[in-house]
Amino acid sequence: MKVTLTTLLEKAEKENSAVGCFTVPNMEILMAAVAAAEEKQCPIVIQIAEGRLAHSPLHYLGPMMVRAAEEAKVPICVHLDHGLTEDAIQQALDLGFSSVMYDGSRNDIAENIARTQRVTEIAKRYGATVEAEIGAIGGKEATDNVETVKYSSLADVKRFSKECDVDALAVAIGNAHGHYKGVPKLNMELLEQLAEASAFPLVLHGGSGITAEQFRACIGHGIRKINIATSVLDAYVEGLREAIKENPLCTYYQVNEFGRKYAKEEVKRHITVFNNKEVLA
Ligand SMILES: [Zn+2]
Repeated sequence: MKVTLTTLLEKAEKENSAVGCFTVPNMEILMAAVAAAEEKQCPIVIQIAEGRLAHSPLHYLGPMMVRAAEEAKVPICVHLDHGLTEDAIQQALDLGFSSVMYDGSRNDIAENIARTQRVTEIAKRYGATVEAEIGAIGGKEATDNVETVKYSSLADVKRFSKECDVDALAVAIGNAHGHYKGVPKLNMELLEQLAEASAFPLVLHGGSGITAEQFRACIGHGIRKINIATSVLDAYVEGLREAIKENPLCTYYQVNEFGRKYAKEEVKRHITVFNNKEVLA
């Protein structure tokens, strides 16, 4: 069943959990994520970032994501991650995405607010939800590499809360996209203050490599959506490698089966922690 982000964020708020949001750049990983959600009986968000559309064209991938969500046995939100242009956002909404992120974080706060509000007005016409961002999450965000993490400013979050009307807000507390060097250092004190100041549920990007304890602590401090891309993509590639290692002459179908299986386990591992079930192995 296809749903908006709000439905899933409300459930997460009530249960003091977070909804897992997984990047699904091809059909195999999409199938893996949906199967994991159905097996765990947990709703998820499936997403693709605008910066990745050169690899996964939206007019091919988008309809597949929408159809997968509609047919799933659990609620699934179909989300555009790090939307940068109104064109891509419009295309996603036209394809039936139930949620979009507008990443205006490179602009100053006034410009970020103005642009986010414009996207919110468009999304509302489609009954879709909007995620915004304040601060700069490290690593490869959107299209370029952010070397220096810029923590979300408390004053900006307060102003944004007054002047914007979004459904979720991504914050920067030391989190980064891609691979971390060592255990990530998250500023939990800042997160607590941001959660207090924000009128919107908070989102944690760059979830790959964050420990189970850190996830739990973030959820305890108000994170309600956690984005995972790298670790599931890595697991998928690991599956392909294993298939070839086991049988160098394996077929296309056999490699895909391994890739799906490994990606599914990685999605399940995260869903388990986000929904306060067992501990991340
Ligand atoms: Zn992100």
